[in-house]
Amino acid sequence: MSFRRFFQEEIETLPKEKLKALQLQRLQAMVELVYHQNSFYRKLYDEAGVKPSDIQSLEDIRKLPFLEKKSVRGAYPYGMALAPIGGENGAVEVHATSGTTGKSVPVFATMKDIENWADLNARELWMTGLRPGDVFMNSYGYGLPTGGFGFHYGAMKMGVMVIPMGSDARQYERFIDFIFDFGVAGMCMTPSVGLYVGNKAREMGIDFKKSKLKVGLFGAEPWPWETRLKLEEYFGITAYDEFGMTEFLGPGMTCECETRDGMHAWADAFLVECINPETGEPVGEGEEGELVWTWLNADGTAMLRYRSRDLSRVWWEERCACGRTHPKIAAIKGRTDDAVPIRGLIVFPSQIEAALLRFPETGANFRIIVDKRNGLDTFDLKVEVKENAMLESEEFVKQLQKQMAEAVKSVTGNTPHVHLVPADSLPRATGGESKTASARVEDRRNLQAVEQK
Ligand SMILES: [Zn+2]
Repeated sequence: MSFRRFFQEEIETLPKEKLKALQLQRLQAMVELVYHQNSFYRKLYDEAGVKPSDIQSLEDIRKLPFLEKKSVRGAYPYGMALAPIGGENGAVEVHATSGTTGKSVPVFATMKDIENWADLNARELWMTGLRPGDVFMNSYGYGLPTGGFGFHYGAMKMGVMVIPMGSDARQYERFIDFIFDFGVAGMCMTPSVGLYVGNKAREMGIDFKKSKLKVGLFGAEPWPWETRLKLEEYFGITAYDEFGMTEFLGPGMTCECETRDGMHAWADAFLVECINPETGEPVGEGEEGELVWTWLNADGTAMLRYRSRDLSRVWWEERCACGRTHPKIAAIKGRTDDAVPIRGLIVFPSQIEAALLRFPETGANFRIIVDKRNGLDTFDLKVEVKENAMLESEEFVKQLQKQMAEAVKSVTGNTPHVHLVPADSLPRATGGESKTASARVEDRRNLQAVEQK
């Protein structure tokens, strides 16, 4: 059977100028709405001296003050709501960020939002090669963060049967069984869960080439190209990067197409800016900065100019080789608040991951431990090995630790103390919400400062 190329051809291929006109129209309507219906925004915009009529062009969005996570938390629980709770046209589902560093940020979805959410996710599943009649295994977490639900609704919308597997990697045997027994064609999970399950399958001698599996979508954590190659090798798939934020009912915000050169950000639903995180000024097209998101067609929750802390790049081609016209963002490099300054240099966990994955001995996880001794930063790196037998030869361990330390130094400028540790011995992030690398960094310097007070 042959299928069409796009899930929603007209909007996915709408010429760039028309998309921009649609964005402006939706932005103006949204600012008008929040100013008149939401006291949080009314106060925010009055204090900044900006009125809805000031938004005459897309660039005028810069007149609106940023939303910081801190200020959004101040509006907890219902301050960001646009719709009544329940009832006709009201919010019928609520999700929330994990709240690991403070109050959760809730997001309210009306039925209209859920319909739009399903469409955006179906576009992405379609774009990465799934078609009606396929079986999709959803291994993001189902819960307060939106990870599991987005692709679940998207798969249902396009006639793909979805298996709500959830993200608990300890049930890897069931992951593997279901892929074969139900003829799974596509799956989604965090890259770290993927590496874990793939490695287990490899140990068990499983060959996924004998299954129907062809596509994997991975997100919720920054992951370097080396991880992609490893996942493709483990599962015999084409691996795609996708990115979303719970505050915007992500996934369904951005995903790679067949070119795998950046992720299309759905411009009819979101306006993405890229700013210098220090000054708040826009950076040039394609230059690195912090992503700032505005939700253009939200019905239940207002999110305008929300600072993500994610570092990436944004560019907008007239038309991608895949035929789509929506702008692109680069793979998330890290978060401004994940950047770990060590001995005066900035280190990102994703850089370290890329360096370690060049070693076939590297297992599924690693942990960065930073401390201060005699006024100087210490930098320790615990790395899981793939097989515990590798730890038996002292000479081998010493050599490998030295080589890994050199590899990390070559990308970060800092030489760590590498300690090889047994497989599966370090804490691991499994949920669909841990886009931060905080699970991988243990910064004891701040603890010390607190204890000394
Ligand atoms: Zn494309």
